[in-house]
Amino acid sequence: MTESKFTPRVFSGIQPSGNLHLGNYLGALKRFVDMQGPDMETVYCMVDLHAITVWQDPKELMHSTRELCAGFIAAGINPEQSILFNQSQVPEHAQLAWIFNCVARMGWMQRMTQWKDKAGKNQQNASLGLFAYPSLMAADILVYHATHVPVGEDQKQHLELTRDIAIKFNNDFGVDFFPITEPVIEGAATRVMSLRDGSKKMSKSDASDMSRINMTDDAETIAKKIRKAKTDPDALPSEVEGLEERPEARNLVNIYSALSDQTPEQVLAEVGGKQFGEFKPMLADLAVAKLSPISSEMARLMNDQAEIDRILARGAERARQITVPILRQTYEIVGMVGAGQN
Ligand code: ATP
Ligand code: MG
Repeated sequence: MTESKFTPRVFSGIQPSGNLHLGNYLGALKRFVDMQGPDMETVYCMVDLHAITVWQDPKELMHSTRELCAGFIAAGINPEQSILFNQSQVPEHAQLAWIFNCVARMGWMQRMTQWKDKAGKNQQNASLGLFAYPSLMAADILVYHATHVPVGEDQKQHLELTRDIAIKFNNDFGVDFFPITEPVIEGAATRVMSLRDGSKKMSKSDASDMSRINMTDDAETIAKKIRKAKTDPDALPSEVEGLEERPEARNLVNIYSALSDQTPEQVLAEVGGKQFGEFKPMLADLAVAKLSPISSEMARLMNDQAEIDRILARGAERARQITVPILRQTYEIVGMVGAGQN
């Protein structure tokens, strides 16, 4: 397959499951903004159908979807330039996911670490949707023929599965229809860790609010969470090698470096030798300086929910200009009568 057959197009999404956090910002949102530009079509989605793979209170889901939309815009996504919408309003995502449910193999899905982590010991009681999550994610991406998908490190395995689904579909039907998507996992903060446990990623769904910095936290809360972040008793090293075996220290240095747009090497050249008692307030000041303009803009945008709803509706309309023809062609390839005449 030649890359050139497919026009470069970026797709990515975030679940509106509340608690949008620093990891989402540095690993995803900030990088979505970086990819927005005149040479790339960018499609960004609030993946509400993914959110309901675990139960969501309907009122909170609506609130989180609007708040996430405000977060995208406050972080720098321009809804005129990028296509910004919520997944459920573009039905082709779920329709293509069904086709992919018939392409993907049980064994592929059973290997997914997100499934194993989220279903935990009680797999029998997890929703079928949670199991099928990666197949819907493949559909989210491929229903746009997206070529580039910026995500955090935790989504790498799902993107590999997306490639496997595209390859199998193309082989099964003897076509060159779906692109082999490139994951874009870059920067110092592709995996921001929990502030309480350096071996766990920062997550919306972590029970402890102290484990994460929420995009809606005020300055005092951000400072308190960083002050209380787990660390070790040693001073910071001057070289990155000195962060090996020190996951909590490495995490705080990576956060500092992503927030200040520097490499960890540059950060350590500046702060090497400092104790955490000195480094943590520096990090807190930087985090507040970078995040508070975003959180106040989010709050301002949330005052006009009708405008947010209009932006989402307009985004869904633009998205469907892409997805309707791609789904129709998929149905034709698969052999569904009527697909060619819709
Ligand atoms: P949940 O715990 O409910 O799965 P989440 O925090 O993982 O929530 P998602 O909506 O699943 O958030 O992920 C949205 C994007 O943010 C994805 O691209 C994901 O890779 C990225 N992301 C999530 N957590 C982190 C993190 N700790 N560090 C960097 N990127 C992250
Ligand atoms: Mg996640």
